[in-house]
Amino acid sequence: MFFGAKTPKLFQALFPTLVWKNATNEKKVWLTFDDGPTAEITPFVLDTLLFYNVKATFFCLGKQMVKHPEILQRITAEGHSIGNHSYSHPNGFTTCTKKYLKDIEKWRQIIPETKLFRPPFGKIFPWQIAKLKKEYKIIMWDVLAWDFKKNTSKEKCYSNVVDNVQNGSIIVLHDNEKSSETLQFALPKIIETLKERGFAFSATW
Ligand SMILES: [Zn+2]
Repeated sequence: MFFGAKTPKLFQALFPTLVWKNATNEKKVWLTFDDGPTAEITPFVLDTLLFYNVKATFFCLGKQMVKHPEILQRITAEGHSIGNHSYSHPNGFTTCTKKYLKDIEKWRQIIPETKLFRPPFGKIFPWQIAKLKKEYKIIMWDVLAWDFKKNTSKEKCYSNVVDNVQNGSIIVLHDNEKSSETLQFALPKIIETLKERGFAFSATW
């Protein structure tokens, strides 16, 4: 389910129960971070968000949450939202549904009240959606930075975001080791540019 930096409208229309973008006329965007928390970059992300007074949503992995409880604690204490991104990042297209749902359920034992879910790799079948949508709002994205991709330059990641945002955009970045160099460059610039253009940041769903 990866395209360019912008998820095509047609594709969004094929999966109307998933949230691709928030409906709003206000200049507001939703920053999201997948695959953390990690010691390499999540503290930097949190420091940056704190510095600019921006709230974001972290789609954490269960296996990372149990490794870094102190960072997880910081995410909640600093007012950010947390979503379920599964325990161990199974691929919805190649994992049997029973195993897939079990992995997501395992995450839930850490934070039972979470109502947000983002499928690992963005890969999910309609029958998996049908099961999960009873308990979760399934959050996709309309703007992908490609920060996790080795051959994408830091500058390109920055422009992938700022060239594609619209009112209500859901932007996906990754607070994992692979993205750490890119984020250190791009995250402050993304926030500054969007603020200059009059955008506010929301973590309310
Ligand atoms: Zn992921």
